Amino acid sequence: MFATRFAPSPTGYLHRGHAFSALTAFDAARRAGGRFVLRIEDIDATRSRPEYEAAILEDLAWLGLEWEQPVRRQSQHLADYHAAIDALRERGLVYRCFKTRKELDIGRAPHEPAVPYRGAPLAADEEAERLARGEAFAWRLSLDAAKRALGGFSGLAFVEEGAGPNGETGLIAVRPETAGDIVLARKDVGVAYHLAVVLDDALQGITHVIRGEDLFEAAHIQRLLQALLGLPTPTYRHHGLLVGPDGRRYAKRDKAQTLRELRAAGMTPDVLRAEMGL
Ligand code: GLU
Repeated sequence: MFATRFAPSPTGYLHRGHAFSALTAFDAARRAGGRFVLRIEDIDATRSRPEYEAAILEDLAWLGLEWEQPVRRQSQHLADYHAAIDALRERGLVYRCFKTRKELDIGRAPHEPAVPYRGAPLAADEEAERLARGEAFAWRLSLDAAKRALGGFSGLAFVEEGAGPNGETGLIAVRPETAGDIVLARKDVGVAYHLAVVLDDALQGITHVIRGEDLFEAAHIQRLLQALLGLPTPTYRHHGLLVGPDGRRYAKRDKAQTLRELRAAGMTPDVLRAEMGL
């Protein structure tokens, strides 16, 4: 059965861009006679706040959305995500990386994007020493080990029914190398977003991931994780991002465009829909 979701992080108030995404997913579920799931992605405990979650529920209800109960909160399932990391670890697919952000940034000018990191496990004695010293580390997915486990990446693809930022559509071949050895967990962020998303999408029976094109690159990483974890791959429908009158996409900093401000200024869901062409 068709099932899609809206998966906001409660790190700020929802704005017009979120409304567009949530309504697009909700309308698709209605048209298909399928399920619509709301998921609260609050694994980043340092940035997530309960008052933002409460505001999200209120704003989405105001928009006219209805979703399945109970709402899944990622922070309540950390043990499941860690179990998945343990399983990958037992298969030799993840390793401890002790490099600090500073070390990773050596030689990089502030305007340059971070270079995708590729590494390898340390020798057992050095690792034991560093652990004994209490040094912080991140669990990283080894692309080399992943490639061996899957017998290469050539068969890895996902179906894009919408489009990526450069018009990518149709059957998309996955390029896992672009992101390097991604972090699956570390001290400050116990579980990385990608891992939680693929596990939850599978658990919740999501058949269609409908979201903004800013997450198109994430689909490459998520498809790789699905293959490694033996999870089904949903169909993807990335949509273009709504831009404001100044041509810039809406962001959490645009206070005047939050749904609560718009509502306070007399906006109605119908007018908002019409303005967004929905
Ligand atoms: N939680 C993510 C965000 O707020 C969205 C995740 C997704 O749709 O896959 O941007």
